[in-house]
Amino acid sequence: MSLMKYDLGSGEYKNWIVSENDFDSLYLGKCESIMCLGNGYLGLRSATEEKYVGETRDMLIAGTFNKFDDEVTELPNAADLTEITIFINGDRFSLLQGNVRDYSRSLNLKNGELTRSFIWTNKDFGDIKFEFKRFVSLNDLHLIGQRVSITPIEKNLDIKIQSGINGQVSNTGAQHFSEGEKRVYDAKYIQYTQKTTESNIDFVLNTVNSFEINSETVKPNSLIVMDRRKVYYNYEMSIEKSSTLVIEKISNVFTSRDKECEGLSYEELKELSLKRIKEESVRGYETLQSESAKAWEEKIWSKCSITINSQNDYEQLAIRFAQYHLVVMTPGHDNRMNIGAKGLSGEGYKGHTFWDTEIFMLPYFIYTDPKVAKSLLEYRYLTLAGARKKAKENGYEGSQFPWESAWLEDGEVTPIWGSADVITGKAEKIWTGFIEIHVTSDVVYGTWHYYNATNDQEFMDTCGYEIIFDCATFWQSRLEWNEEKQIFEITGVIGPDEYKEHVDNNAFTNYTAKWNLDLAMNYYNELKENRRDLFDKLNEKLNLDENFTKWASKVDKVYLPKPNEDNIIPQDDTYLTKEIIDLTKYKNQTNIGSFFKDYNMHQANEIQVSKQADIMVLFLLLEGLFSEEVKKANWEYYEPKTLHDSSLSLSTHCTLANDLGHSELSYELFRKACDIDLGPNMKTSDAGIHSASLGGVWQCIVNGFGGVRMIDGNLRINPCLPKTWNKLELPLHWHGDLLNISITSEELNIVNTTNNNEEIRFIHKGNECKLTNSITIKLA
Ligand code: BGC
Ligand code: BGC
Repeated sequence: MSLMKYDLGSGEYKNWIVSENDFDSLYLGKCESIMCLGNGYLGLRSATEEKYVGETRDMLIAGTFNKFDDEVTELPNAADLTEITIFINGDRFSLLQGNVRDYSRSLNLKNGELTRSFIWTNKDFGDIKFEFKRFVSLNDLHLIGQRVSITPIEKNLDIKIQSGINGQVSNTGAQHFSEGEKRVYDAKYIQYTQKTTESNIDFVLNTVNSFEINSETVKPNSLIVMDRRKVYYNYEMSIEKSSTLVIEKISNVFTSRDKECEGLSYEELKELSLKRIKEESVRGYETLQSESAKAWEEKIWSKCSITINSQNDYEQLAIRFAQYHLVVMTPGHDNRMNIGAKGLSGEGYKGHTFWDTEIFMLPYFIYTDPKVAKSLLEYRYLTLAGARKKAKENGYEGSQFPWESAWLEDGEVTPIWGSADVITGKAEKIWTGFIEIHVTSDVVYGTWHYYNATNDQEFMDTCGYEIIFDCATFWQSRLEWNEEKQIFEITGVIGPDEYKEHVDNNAFTNYTAKWNLDLAMNYYNELKENRRDLFDKLNEKLNLDENFTKWASKVDKVYLPKPNEDNIIPQDDTYLTKEIIDLTKYKNQTNIGSFFKDYNMHQANEIQVSKQADIMVLFLLLEGLFSEEVKKANWEYYEPKTLHDSSLSLSTHCTLANDLGHSELSYELFRKACDIDLGPNMKTSDAGIHSASLGGVWQCIVNGFGGVRMIDGNLRINPCLPKTWNKLELPLHWHGDLLNISITSEELNIVNTTNNNEEIRFIHKGNECKLTNSITIKLA
């Protein structure tokens, strides 16, 4: 069953509206996640104003990690500002009672506003019309606005509203805060403070409610209540039939981790946030919301809209949905923070950053909003201390990035115990944090990708080279000499395919490690020759001369698994020797992970079954190393064994399928990728949206169908649109210029809108093309 609707937008909102057309408390997680609001500073799950069993109310503030007990650090769930409890003639309003008609809940992707409306009736109350609106401001990162209107249609009613701040929330039971102070100012403004228990971050939250009946301000009877971890007002009033009561709740949140609040004392933070709520609330919901809408237009949509003219409107909606969430999830305002695997939309993966950033989301920002891409990479630079700590703890040199990353200095934060082993009944040990080591090359790849696409030399000088060099130093120390074979190996790892643990010579890991060494050696030579000052500085800091000798002594002996007689590259030393079973049942699954209802990890390890793209990702990153035949053969071998149990898998497969000429399959995979969060499945987004798959939707469109790629440092554009598409238009930042690319089945047209470069070179179908102001290339 699905409650989702996609076509309710019309006029200027056509293909901008995601809706739910019925309420079912069994499926609360879906819209809480996919309709979540935010601005990269804060993420607010869209739990409803009134509470339900099964809901997850989350407000997560980027970068405010805290460690509870001996668990790993996570983003704490801050006190809730959004709860509004409504009593009608003494009965608590709930959609589980009475009758509901004309129900609709919609997220407007264009202006970032969430709306819910319906007509409700219960007992002898007659019909009552409800409308709820909400936004998190993109204009003022701290601000949340809510507006509730209640219109009794047939009867006069007594209404009581309970609204304030509720700190009785947790992260599924873990309490990350000590309670601070509760206070009301001017008999109106509610303030609540809390402090994270281990990272000692002060949170200050403020809220204020105001009331109107038929557009006239009213002052209901009110009584302040302070309770444990909770402070709120009870407001009471009567409304006559056909009158409309409007409640506006304006709230804000500040923390001592906010860059702009650095140096402020706790008292000053309280003062500042109180001053701000006073100034903001008088301006009212409509004004504040329109300022946020304007920011969406000015900062986002006017700059990076992608237009898909397709027979299926859903696809235009899907890319907007992806872009909306990429904005909401990304703390581009602060380079001490990065993107979580579930963004700021839920507690899944604890707000931690994975390889997802560099391989799946970073490309979107590199080509769409390079400043944000830079900030995300600066975060990695700032985590080098943690990466050095991790390398050292493991007995290695250089920098080893953590599989899961959070607070700058912490290094590895992957949890150790995971889900149940269906065979033994014990919790399975999570090995990723110990042995999924390819993330180090992934960060290097992201760094190199950013540099090649932007030419941002300043970033390279201050951060990029250091990352690349120090990761090469890690890899050389990680390599293991095999005397018998006279090769360097990397044993005992997990590659991108997490259904194979403790494998030797995972192809993705080995190839990218060797690539990192080669890259570092090239830059070493280049800097030594042409940039002596910088070289000397880095040499002193990173011991480059000595390390170079070590890199050079090993690089040519790194074992790279080669294609066998059938052109298949072994994913690792033993994959191809494992049992092959009929996977049809699991390939046809409706919900991912069905394999683990029948097998445990140990058994999965012995079967040729894969969770996600592994070698396929390598083909995309280092395309030049592999021939077309090899790619084809490996696709045909591995795809049937891949369950796509990770949402990261589909976009890679979609893009490659398009490269290999499987257009229909590619389109099918794209549609599946679009569905991961937005689609009709009501359960898959409960723990939060899938950040990487949203970056992946952009990759399918731009890297896949648009054929826009960075290959060996060059821009290549080889479009191949799905049959159902008439036109694709996209913005693309390249070397500091903004290009508008427009593609039909007949023509590729590129306009340089900024002309900072006299000429931009790119490759099309193997030929070098030159773009000065604009260029049109015939495709058909
Ligand atoms: C995937 C990883 C990914 C992680 C976070 C896992 O299910 O296998 O590749 O990094 O989720 O999204
Ligand atoms: C993911 C791993 C992750 C682990 C713990 C698993 O579901 O596949 O990549 O490290 O959860 O967060």
